Amino acid sequence: MKKKKTPYLVCADEKGQIFEEPELLMLSRQGNGLVLPGPDDLIPLPPSSDLFLLPGRKAVGLDPATGKIQLVDALAVAGFASPGHTLSGTAAYMTEPDAPVLPLYAYGAVGFLDDRFWITARLVDQDQRQVFSHIPQSDITRNAHELLKKYPENRLIRHLAGCALNSCCPAARNLVLGRFEAPLPTSRSCNARCVGCISFQPDDSGIKATQKRISFTPESEELIQVMKIHCARAKKPVLSFGQGCEGEPLTQAELICEAISRVRNSIPQATININTNASLPESVSKLARSGLNSVRVSLNSTDPDLYHSYYRPVNYSFDQVKGFIQEARDHKLFVSLNLLYFPGITDTESQIGSITDFIQDLKIDFIQMRNLNLDPDIYLALVRDKDLGPQTGLGNFMKRIKKECPWTGFGYFNPYLGG
Ligand code: SF4
Repeated sequence: MKKKKTPYLVCADEKGQIFEEPELLMLSRQGNGLVLPGPDDLIPLPPSSDLFLLPGRKAVGLDPATGKIQLVDALAVAGFASPGHTLSGTAAYMTEPDAPVLPLYAYGAVGFLDDRFWITARLVDQDQRQVFSHIPQSDITRNAHELLKKYPENRLIRHLAGCALNSCCPAARNLVLGRFEAPLPTSRSCNARCVGCISFQPDDSGIKATQKRISFTPESEELIQVMKIHCARAKKPVLSFGQGCEGEPLTQAELICEAISRVRNSIPQATININTNASLPESVSKLARSGLNSVRVSLNSTDPDLYHSYYRPVNYSFDQVKGFIQEARDHKLFVSLNLLYFPGITDTESQIGSITDFIQDLKIDFIQMRNLNLDPDIYLALVRDKDLGPQTGLGNFMKRIKKECPWTGFGYFNPYLGG
């Protein structure tokens, strides 16, 4: 549904009361620039999305009469789009000197028009695996407790049932509901130091990790039991190593290979995937031999400098990431990129050129268009000195990649590859 009119600015008072400012139009941030969002950049705020008040940040809008940008003495408001949506713009605001660092979320620009909120985002995946609005919480609670009662010795089930009950983790919820993609965390350590790591933040980062890292290393028996439980219940089972509540799964490659190889023959229908920073190419052949058939490689950029400044790798470099993907190709694994998209940076000419070359060289199968969850000012500071060239916008970014790499698919989640 295309909307020609630009929605009005949305802001909030100190009590948290959100209101529209009908004299001003909403603006969207593209990198360091402020723009009026185009019709293709806006969608109605999807169900299960959130609105955030941005402490220490003043709202800015555009006066349609003068064409001037105006600062408003009110709090800025942003939208966190529900899973399956990629942001085409970030919230527009003026950060005050003593503003606190924003938590690890993605902050979309929001406006109000025709009795509804609008957000700068685009639906990139119709998959329903993270939609729970039609499922009563009582179903999740009952199922979680049934698993705990049936498998009291399995620490991994205790961990994941706890995540489903206490932190509403969508992957853990899907395990207890026996549908779609189940999580298999294994690792307590990581060989990267991502600026926006959700499971570990150094004390001096000023950023709070949003996920508690797993506190034990599961036995292969515990992993195998979870894999069998899920494959016995889910129609299209996806089993994924590498979750938000752990470090880098490749540091546990031996354990993962042992678990997969011991169960693979009894679950031929399953897609067995690893979400990884792809730092250890030497682990690919044994993973492939064990029966893994899908890899998802996380990166914010295919520009080594930008990659290193965000991932801050320890004892590996972007060359290893490329080496890992080449190995995965050679072993005929399905390769997805978990692209941490940032409006006004990822869609610049230099980045599109670099990503297109990368996809063509390594024949990437699929791009998961994720939002980079980080205080925008922190990410923009990382790229401040780089001349990235003109921005093209999310729509053009996807069109350009698809034109140059027609075999590559776009989405948001790990696809089920079939039995
Ligand atoms: S690769 Fe994952 S676990 Fe490691 S630092 Fe980055 S986000 Fe954290």
